[in-house]
This record gives sequence, C-alpha cells and structure tokens, in this order.
Amino acid sequence: MDTYASVIVDITHSKLDRPFQYRIPHGMEEQIHPGVRVVVPFGNGNRTQIGYVIGIDAKPAIAPERIKEILSIDASGTAIESELIRLAFWIREQYGGTMNQALRTVLPVKRKTQAKEMRYVFLNVAQDEAAEVLSVFQKKHQTARARLLQALMEQSPVPYEAVTGKLHVTASVIRTLEEQGLLRITSERAYRNPFSGISVEDTSIALNPDQERIVSEISQRRKMHDHAPSLIFGVTGSGKTEVYMALIEEAIAEGKQSIVLIPEIALTYQTLIRFYARFGDRVSVLHSKMSAGERFDQYERAKNGELDVMIGPRSALFTPFSNIGYIIIDEEHESSYKSEGVPRYHACDTAIERAKMHSANVVLGSATPSLSSYLKTQQGKWHLYTLPDRVSGRPMPHVEIIDLRSELRTGNRSVLSRRLREQIHDRLEKKEQIMLFLNRRGYAGFVSCRSCGEVIKCSHCDVSMTLHRDKRLYCHYCGDAMDLPKVCPKCGSPYIGTFRAGTQQIESIVQKEFPNARILRMDADSTRKKDGYESILSAFANREADILIGTQMIVKGHDFPGVTLVGILAADLSLHVPDYRASERTFQLLTQASGRAGRGEIPGEVIIQTYQPEHYSILTAADQDYVSFYQQEMIYRKLLHYPPAWEMLLIHIDSENESAADQMASYLDAQINDYYKEESKRSWQKIGPSNAGIAKIEDIYRKVIYIKHNHADALTGLKSFLEEKIEIRNDPNVSIQFDRNPM
Ligand code: ADP
Ligand code: ZN
Ligand code: ZN
Repeated sequence: MDTYASVIVDITHSKLDRPFQYRIPHGMEEQIHPGVRVVVPFGNGNRTQIGYVIGIDAKPAIAPERIKEILSIDASGTAIESELIRLAFWIREQYGGTMNQALRTVLPVKRKTQAKEMRYVFLNVAQDEAAEVLSVFQKKHQTARARLLQALMEQSPVPYEAVTGKLHVTASVIRTLEEQGLLRITSERAYRNPFSGISVEDTSIALNPDQERIVSEISQRRKMHDHAPSLIFGVTGSGKTEVYMALIEEAIAEGKQSIVLIPEIALTYQTLIRFYARFGDRVSVLHSKMSAGERFDQYERAKNGELDVMIGPRSALFTPFSNIGYIIIDEEHESSYKSEGVPRYHACDTAIERAKMHSANVVLGSATPSLSSYLKTQQGKWHLYTLPDRVSGRPMPHVEIIDLRSELRTGNRSVLSRRLREQIHDRLEKKEQIMLFLNRRGYAGFVSCRSCGEVIKCSHCDVSMTLHRDKRLYCHYCGDAMDLPKVCPKCGSPYIGTFRAGTQQIESIVQKEFPNARILRMDADSTRKKDGYESILSAFANREADILIGTQMIVKGHDFPGVTLVGILAADLSLHVPDYRASERTFQLLTQASGRAGRGEIPGEVIIQTYQPEHYSILTAADQDYVSFYQQEMIYRKLLHYPPAWEMLLIHIDSENESAADQMASYLDAQINDYYKEESKRSWQKIGPSNAGIAKIEDIYRKVIYIKHNHADALTGLKSFLEEKIEIRNDPNVSIQFDRNPM
C-alpha cells in the first residue's frame, strides 16, 4: 500500500496553502512525519528542492501515476521550521481548523514586499571644503546640488529617501556629487530595532530571600531536567518580574534564549524599559501596533542569533529561537492568551508543548492564578511558588463592602452609595486621587432585582439568562427560554430589569455631585484615538485629574502612587455574564482593582458596592484570599462538570441555510452519541444542539453543541472522529469550528 506526504516547498512566501503530494518510498514510512525536511523533485524540470512534510495521507489526491516520489530525507541540521511545523500539527490536532491555518499561526510568513534596506547619504568632506564648493554651486545656479550639499552640512547622514523625497533631489544629482567625492552612500539591511534611541541605566537589584529561593529552585529543576511548569503566585508588586529577569540571565549564561509573554494591555513602556535596561540590544519586542515588516524583522533577528529575549503577547510564543531556556507567561490568567480566531489555541498549553521540544521550562505568574493552573499545582503536576508580600513591605489596602440593596431601601437610588460619596469628598479635600471602576466586562442583558439582588438564571446550567429583543429570556448554553417576569420571582419587587449605566452617565453623575473635581474617563470611546490609552493614563499619573473613571481597562498595569481610594461601582455586574467562568473573572477584576489603591506612601481604601454582598467571589476578593475562592469555586465546577474539573468541547455550526445547519447539528449529535455509546453516562455529558447566544448574525444561522468529559484526551479523539465524519458528509453550505475549553 502506497502512502503519501503533503509537502510545502517554500515556506518563506505566502504559498502555505499550496502543498504538493509526494509518494513516500517504501521503507521510509517510519521516518516521515510532519516537520521532517525532505528532498523532492519539483516543477517541469524536476529540480531538486528542499520541502517540509506537513501531513500524511492514505489516499492520492490526483492520479497515482502522476505523483512523484520523495528522493530523500534531509537531516542536515535541525531547522527551526521543522519544529514549528511539528508544533502547528499539534495545534491542529488539539484545537481543530486546517493545517494551513495552523501553519499561518506559527510561521512568520514573509510578505512579498522587499526586505527594507536603509540607505544613508553622508557628507564626505570637511565643512570648510564643503562651504567652498557650495558657493561655486550657488554661483552657477546649480540649485539642486546646492540644496543637497547645504542639507548635508547641517546634518549628516540624511536618509536617502529624505534626499529624494523632502529635498526633491534626483538620483542623478546624488550620483554626480558622489562621483565628485563630496558625499558617500552607505546601505544596510535595517532590522528596525524597536528600542533604538533609548538609553537607560540598569539598576540591578539584589533579590530578597524569597525571590532568591524561587530563582535557584526553578533553575536547579531545569538543569536537573525536571521540566514541569512552575506557577509563581504573587501579589502585584511582589517582585515576580525581577524573578523572571534573573531566570533569563541564568539561561543566557548557558547560551539559551527566553520568551516572555505578557498581555497586550500590560505591554507598557515601563515594562519594556526594565527589560531593555537589563538586556540591552539582546531583547526585542513584538506588539500589535507594529507593521508586518517590522514584525518580520524581529523574527529574523531572533533566528539569526541576535537576540536572547523576546517580549510580546500571544504570538511571540512562535519566535524562531533555536535553543530556548524559559518560556515565561506573566498574568497567566488573562483571557487574551486564548486565540479568538481559528485555531483557537491557548498560549499556556501551546507553550508547554513548545517547551518540550527544547527541554525548556515554562514559568507562569499571576496574582490571581487561573483555576486550571492552580489545580495543576494541587494535583502535583506543576510546582507552586508563593510571593505573599509586596516588596517594599507596604500594606494591602483596607476593603469595605457596601450593600446596594440597603441603599435602595433607605431611599438612595444613586449609583454612588453614601459611604463612597463621603470618601470621595474626603480625598478631594486632601488632594489625593480616586479611581472609580465600572465593572462592565462582557456586559450582557442579564435581568436582576434591585431590591434583593436576585438574578434570573437557567435552572439547568446555573448561568444568567439573557434578555433578547423579543422580550424573552434565553439560556446561551442549552437554549432554554422564558418570558420576562414583571416582578422579582423571589421578593415580588417591581424594580427588576437590566442594568444600563455606562461610563459616560457615571461621569456626568459624578461631575454634578463634585463640580470642582477634575475628571478623566477611560473607556472604548475615549481611547479610540491612537495613544488615547497612554495619554489618559499619563495625564492621570501627572495628577492632571482627581478622578479617573473607567472600565476594566483601568485596573491593569500602571501604578498610581497618588491613588488612595478605589470605588467599585457595581461589583456583581461581571457575575452575571452568561459564562461558567463569571465568578472567576469577578474575583480577578475585584482583586486587581483593589490592588490599585495605596501604591504610594499613604495606605489605600477600597469600597466595593454590590447587590450581592454575600457572594463568595466578592467576600474572598475583599479579603484578598485566593485560596478560599479557589476552594469554593472548584466545588461549583465539580458539581456542574465545568472546566477545569471536566474538559469541554464546543462545536459551532454555521450556515446561511437554517435547515442545513439543523441537519448538520442533528447529524453530529447522532455521531457523538454513537462515539460514546460504550461509555458510562457518568463520564460524559452533552448540551444541545441549540441556538448560539446570538442565534443569527448577518443572516448566518448559528447552532452550538457542548460536550463535557471527565478525561481530556477523550475529547481530542471525539474531535478527530467528527472531523472525519464532516469531511465524508462534505456539505459546502455549513461551516464547523471546534473550540476547546471556550472562553
Ligand atoms: P511584580 O512583577 O510581581 O508586580 P516587580 O518585579 O515589578 O513585581 O516588583 C515591584 C517593584 O519592586 C519594582 O519597582 C521592582 O523594581 C521592586 N523590587 C522587586 N524586587 C526587589 C528587591 N529584591 N529589592 C528591592 N526592590 C525590588
Ligand atoms: Zn427581588
Ligand atoms: Zn441552560
């Protein structure tokens, strides 16, 4: 039986979608797998060419006699591309999508544009000699020559483009002056260095004993080939970043590189400067504001061995380093580590897979670890390190919970409780700063009672029901629906409805109450302009305002030593997004928001306003008690079989044709039942098929099926099984996507 390999012959250009099929010679089957470099005959003349295997097929795609055979395996060196292709294959297996999509995720595809070459024009003679020649040019009315020479006398070198552009001097004039020896042109392949022009001093810090111990244990473990990931659980300001930098230095001493992942929003100038001060030109950065060319340059620098450290969001994970020591993931609980597009990979799991290929170690850090990471430490799969205190010995802020239901009972209908109002007055008088945080994360139309705090939830899934335009409430998991009740089902109060205050309304309310306060607002609107985000934050840091009002954007990153009061306006809003992670997100947001208070000399105060003061995620956040939160939340996840207790697979079924979507959904439903027919009902669970949260977007009908299983690998098997079935059914009207542990 013949087998075939899909081979791509040119991965540097955007031809990833053109694999060619080759026959695998008999006897070579064992050695051919994704990522292997092979020598193949290519094109009409059968030139030999190097290619990469991206997949194995049992069937020929064209007539078998027209398929050429692989000539040999190319074992010269271990190309970084081989490794990244293997990683792409793993991503495709785990998360679904096509191999092409996976390859595009891991390989920096070179655009057709030429590598940018910077040319500079230098003055090649002394100033006095230049001045003499200049007067000759002027006398002869050779204005272009004079203009160029004069410009060079003022500043040398001048970028070539500026000469032909801004100075309007033609190439032939430049050549003439070059021939006369007046100027000289240099060119270099300019790897745009994002840090160029910055000079800073490194203030090397002596680690404290806790930090010291963590660094030495983690590096010891790496050297002893214990490659289990390490989780550093440490409050903000506990010195995690210093630990990361010490580990990176230790890896550099062994000639190894490191990747540091941070969420885009935390990719601030201050963070980058700290790394630059320590590692100089050996560190680079990737971020979303860079052009494709700039990003490609940084990948090239990494590949050519010019870098030891790459910092960036999710995609920096695929930096083509060939000998990795550490992959560090800061703020590992952030949802931005999960890709929103196909393949929907999670950077933490993918980092662990990549680290295996290098015998590298993954180090994760957070003040509020994700449940799934902390669970791994409790199961003994990962190592746990704790940094319980802030470095400078500053106290954690004092937190007070205000019950909004009793505010309403006593006649206060404002968004500001009496206590918060008093405190704002007090701080304005003392000329201290205030942050007001409106928790609107993933705000969806849940319905709650302002008298008793009751929220209408699905009785099957225990997530909030969502109000739709037809005035009915829907569950986004199982599709259950009900009419909107007129009074609270629990206490009979008519004050029931959706919560609709936005940051702009809050701003005008606060401004009315405190007419002399200087207020800044930060939300999606006010930050739309380029630099909007940075400029608002720096204005607040420079104390150009007394109050900063904002959404979750304000709770991360920046330190404001002047802030002594943080008000959280409606803490429970994020509890009611229709997502089983709602409590976890709420705990994280409240903990981070509280952490903004009292970063300077004066201790901070936090006021949490809520309709559910008895909710454990609010109580534990107020106590800054992660472990209690973890314990209570895990009980809920186990009870309802949600991740990380169980694994979850979400199948999206989209079609313009509703009946095609329905047919595919029930077909897959039957296939799933068939696949698990031998399994105990206690080990797996299916919800749906049902309509997606938004059942129809732009005339596309959307159906979903959720499958939960108590064993993760069982879902990988199911996904591959369904992919085969989908291929056989081959319905071009329906598109299907898989999502592992969706967020
Ligand atoms: P995290 O990453 O946990 O928020 P950082 O590493 O940024 O913490 O440390 C917080 C602040 O404390 C930084 O300004 C840092 O320079 C300082 N710092 C960290 N470790 C020490 C230390 N051992 N001695 C003195 N200052 C330190
Ligand atoms: Zn009620
Ligand atoms: Zn439900």
